[in-house]
Amino acid sequence: MPGYADDRARELPSDAPSRRHDAPHRWISSRTRSIWHWQLAVAVAVSAITVTVALLSPETFTRPTFNAGVTLTIAVSAAALAVPWHRLSKPAVALLPAIDIITIGLMAHQGSELLTLLWVFPVTWLATHYTLPWLIAGLCEIAGILVTGTLVTAVTPDRTLSVIVVLLALAFIGITITTTARRTRAFRRLLERQFHQLERTLRRVEAQEKRAMALFNSVDTALARVDRRGVVRGANHAYRRLYAIGDVANPHPTAAVEYDTYRGNPLPPQRTMLARAGRGELFDDHRFWLFDAEGMWHALDATTSASPATPDEPEVTLLALRDVTAAVTAEQEKSTMTTMVSHELRNPLTAIIGHIDLLLDRDDLPADAIDNLTVVENAGQRMQRLITSVLDGSAPTPLAERVDLRRVVAASVDAFHPVAQTAQLTVEPAIDPDLHVSGDAFRLRQVVDNILGNAVKYTPRGGQVRVEARRVGREVRLTVSDTGIGISPADIERVFEPYFRAETARASGIPGTGLGMVISREIVHEHGGRLELTSALGHGTDVVVHLTAVDAADAERIAE
Ligand code: ATP
Ligand code: MG
Repeated sequence: MPGYADDRARELPSDAPSRRHDAPHRWISSRTRSIWHWQLAVAVAVSAITVTVALLSPETFTRPTFNAGVTLTIAVSAAALAVPWHRLSKPAVALLPAIDIITIGLMAHQGSELLTLLWVFPVTWLATHYTLPWLIAGLCEIAGILVTGTLVTAVTPDRTLSVIVVLLALAFIGITITTTARRTRAFRRLLERQFHQLERTLRRVEAQEKRAMALFNSVDTALARVDRRGVVRGANHAYRRLYAIGDVANPHPTAAVEYDTYRGNPLPPQRTMLARAGRGELFDDHRFWLFDAEGMWHALDATTSASPATPDEPEVTLLALRDVTAAVTAEQEKSTMTTMVSHELRNPLTAIIGHIDLLLDRDDLPADAIDNLTVVENAGQRMQRLITSVLDGSAPTPLAERVDLRRVVAASVDAFHPVAQTAQLTVEPAIDPDLHVSGDAFRLRQVVDNILGNAVKYTPRGGQVRVEARRVGREVRLTVSDTGIGISPADIERVFEPYFRAETARASGIPGTGLGMVISREIVHEHGGRLELTSALGHGTDVVVHLTAVDAADAERIAE
């Protein structure tokens, strides 16, 4: 029901506990104040009329009903100031305008009909705060008073007309005000609903912002947002830790210093990551070193990305710093280790090759022994080339010579023959005669050795390995199939990742580094070819190498 009671309900949104606590006091005062205002308006109007009457027509005071009306109005108004309205219900409050209607009726009885205009006050009051039935009740009360007054005095046409005019005028005013008040209340409710909706949205946005902030702070990557003036508009915990910054708004000077390389030159102020990000420079994984406040070196990869301007924030650059110190250190350690091992291998290898040379110089060796020794010598020389390239820090220079893949494959099959025999494997070669390709025979031999080595290594005793090298159209196709342990579908995807070894290989206890396939594929790609691997767990694996065939005409070009 609209009116005072409803006002209270609307002022107390169910989802605002803190406001609910304060609200009763606010509501009491505003409701009581409103009642006082209305009643005081009536009292002031009556007082003003009384003073006017006293000055202009004091004989009016001889009418007891006038005096009674004035006295009652003043008494009721005084009492209204003392009544605890907040404890009373809405109908009880309606008693005040109802009494005012009576007191005004008394004042107007047998006097000037103009005094009936004072009913505008209680009628407006009822129309503003109550619904139509209440207004009608008030108008009925007025009608009752007017009719009684007319009956008590005399029923004249003039008197009857004025009763009707007064009633119609009051009804018109009342209904107009009721309608306007209803619309105002509806509009107010709408505004309040929109306000609460807005409040809820605001709270949701605040919560989302908090969650985003928590996420921003929880990541290991150091993140900072820099605007075009170089002002840091936000930095996560990782960034503050790295640069030992307490106050984000004032990041300079920081105890951490950026260097171009490890123990290299400090970056000048205009080249620091913040300065570059502030200028809106975009870069990806730019490596630099940071010497932090605790004297530790960090290898960092910096990436920037632009974030467009929003109504609350100008255009900013997001600076992301990934700490890659562990990976860099591991890489360096591995490289040192590789160099050391290569170095240590060189001397025994020189001795092996030297002694094989000595043996091959002898005339009393049987032919098959010479073949075996030649295979060992070739393998040793290839190893020497590899070791030299590792120690130089350079990849073996790829050649572009005409290579007969038939010879490369046959030599590899020969080399694995003893191992296959020991493992009781059948190796079936099927090699076409003309299999020329352009490239580096040494590198291609590495590929064949890796693939054939895997087939032999991962095929249990009694299994079969088939090596097929064929000319198919414009390409030379080498297929190595085995009936070995195979690879699960999930692991196949990862076979070309460095150091990855399939579950089957690890479980079988067969040693390996997980690098052979990566290197092989790289070499095949360098030769413009491709390498494919398919496998069925427990049934075997097929590895196919596709290379471009070289014809006689091409061969002449290569030779030139
Ligand atoms: P190495 O670097 O010494 O060759 P590796 O043989 O373990 O070690 P890769 O040759 O790169 O490494 O092979 C990667 C993985 O792929 C192997 O560990 C193995 O799990 C799987 N794999 C490769 N070839 C075969 C095959 N013929 N049969 C079964 N598994 C294979
Ligand atoms: Mg291998």
